[in-house]
Amino acid sequence: MSSRHAAGQGGASPRRAVIFTALVATALAAGACGPRYVRSAPLGSSAPSQPRASLSRNVVVISVDGLRPDAIDEYGAPTLQRLMREGSYSLAASTIFPSKTLPSHTSMLTGQPPERHGVLWNTGATARSSSIDLPNVFSVARAHGYSTAAFFSKAKFQPLQVRNTLDYSQAPGGWFNKWSSARTVADVRTYLHTAKPNLLFVHLADPDGAGHRAGWMTEEYGRAVLAADTAVQQIIELSERTYGRGQFSLVVTADHGGHGTGHGSQDPRDVTIPWIAWGQGVKPGELESPAISTMDTASTVLWVLGLSAPTDWAGNAVIQAYDAGIVRTD
Ligand SMILES: [Zn+2]
Repeated sequence: MSSRHAAGQGGASPRRAVIFTALVATALAAGACGPRYVRSAPLGSSAPSQPRASLSRNVVVISVDGLRPDAIDEYGAPTLQRLMREGSYSLAASTIFPSKTLPSHTSMLTGQPPERHGVLWNTGATARSSSIDLPNVFSVARAHGYSTAAFFSKAKFQPLQVRNTLDYSQAPGGWFNKWSSARTVADVRTYLHTAKPNLLFVHLADPDGAGHRAGWMTEEYGRAVLAADTAVQQIIELSERTYGRGQFSLVVTADHGGHGTGHGSQDPRDVTIPWIAWGQGVKPGELESPAISTMDTASTVLWVLGLSAPTDWAGNAVIQAYDAGIVRTD
């Protein structure tokens, strides 16, 4: 059909050229919009040796985008409630200002406030041409012989996919693309069939999307919170299969909350986040003081792995969440 069409329009070559150009442009754009996978060469035999002592050799961090702490009880999220019962938690931790996804996660993972890390943008468009080269929890862990993997569910995380800081990382393509919790967990499952990263980071996007569409603390937002809760349960099951029961330490937190159909302000509903530690090395109970900042997460993860955070990081390890008396030395 296309040849008949072409034959009948012998004089339309400029138009065909335009169509051809458009097709090429579309194809190129589609390529540029595909998911982004970044892998590093394995650490191999020349890897630096891991510290002798640690609370755990395996840490899993799950960040639930837009999860307000009061949503856990409001919607009866069963997994998160169980982690709080069995672990150590605060429902009054804080994120930074601006309380937006990329600035907040950058603080969570670099232990630095926005004034220091400078990531104030929150769009995929900017993210496409940038990379965040500061030391972060992945780069420090990997420099000490730990393997690392990160599963991001939004395209805007691409600046954190820095080679040689992560053995494996993935993020959706495009400028504003996102993946459901179910999609991200399926990819984590596939990855863990053959890999056993010492540090596994998983970002789940669902509650934030529902908050922007229908409003925080609405029915639709509640359904998204429960979908994220299911994903957390599945990640725990996958981690138990990969590391062994009781052989990993888990942190579940969020980048920000929200109110109305947005977030980003200094309103307590935007900046208050949950912070839950569970699993190996954790001392159960509610954490009352000192107040926990999202910048403490990176230092805490390194501390559990037996490492010190860089001295210029603003965050501090939340040592009160752990029983430092059960350090492993194998
Ligand atoms: Zn958002």
